[in-house]
Amino acid sequence: MGVMKEIIRSLVKLQDTLGAIAEAEQFERKAPEQIEALDLRLEEAASGLNVVREELAESQKQRRALEMDIASVETQINRHQEQTMSVKTNEAYRTLQHEIEVERAKVSKLEDRVLELMEHSDQLEARIKVLESEHVQARGRTEEEKRGVMEKGRAASKELERLQEVRKGSELKIPADTLENFNRIASARGGVGIVVAKNELCGGCNVRLRPQIFQEVRRAEALHSCESCKRYLYCPEEPRPGDAAVESSGPEAGRAPAGG
Ligand SMILES: [Zn+2]
Repeated sequence: MGVMKEIIRSLVKLQDTLGAIAEAEQFERKAPEQIEALDLRLEEAASGLNVVREELAESQKQRRALEMDIASVETQINRHQEQTMSVKTNEAYRTLQHEIEVERAKVSKLEDRVLELMEHSDQLEARIKVLESEHVQARGRTEEEKRGVMEKGRAASKELERLQEVRKGSELKIPADTLENFNRIASARGGVGIVVAKNELCGGCNVRLRPQIFQEVRRAEALHSCESCKRYLYCPEEPRPGDAAVESSGPEAGRAPAGG
C-alpha cells in the first residue's frame, strides 16, 4: 500500500512538474517576441518625432524661399529707385514711384509670412525638444523592460533545468507501463493524466465511479483509471488516512494526529 501511495504521489508531482515545464518553455519561446514588440513600440514612438522634424525642415525651406523672393523684390526696388534719378517726365517719375510702392507692399507681406514661419518653427523646435526628452525616457524604459524579459528568460532556463531533474526523479518512482500510459493520456487530454476523484465522481469528466472503485481510490490501494476519460484517479491525501476514516461516510473532521 505504501508503494502505491508513492506511485500516485509521484504521478501527481510529475503532472505538476510537466505543467511548470510547459509554462517555462512557453516563456522561453515568447521572450524574443516580447523583445521585438518592445523595440517596435519604441520605433513607433520615434516616428511621431520624425514627423515633427520633417515639418520643421519644410517650414525652414519655405522661409528660405521667401527670403530669396524678398531679396529679388528688393533688388527691383533699388533698380527703380536708381531709375527715378534719371527720369525725364513727371509722368514717368510717378509711374516708378507707384511701382516702388507696390513692391514695398509686396516685401512687407512676404516679411509677415516669414515672421509667421519663424514663429511656427519656434513652436516646432519646442515640440521637438519635448518629444526628444520623452524619447530618451522611453528608450530608457524600453531597455529596462528588455533587460527584465531577458533576465526572466534566463531564470526560466535555469528553472527548466531544475524541473527536468524533478521530472526525472518522479519518473524513476513510477513503473514503466504506468508512466507510458500516463504520458499517453496526458498528451491526449491537455496535460492531465491523473485527476482527483471526489464525491464518487471523476474530477476530469464528472462520470460517476463505482463505489467499490472509489473506495479503493480513496484508500490508495490500487491505481484506477476512469472508465470514461481513462485518466488515473486519486484522492488528495488526508492528514492521517486510517481505517476509521474509510468506515465513516461523513466529511473528515479536522486534523487528528493519530499514532503511526
Ligand atoms: Zn473521467
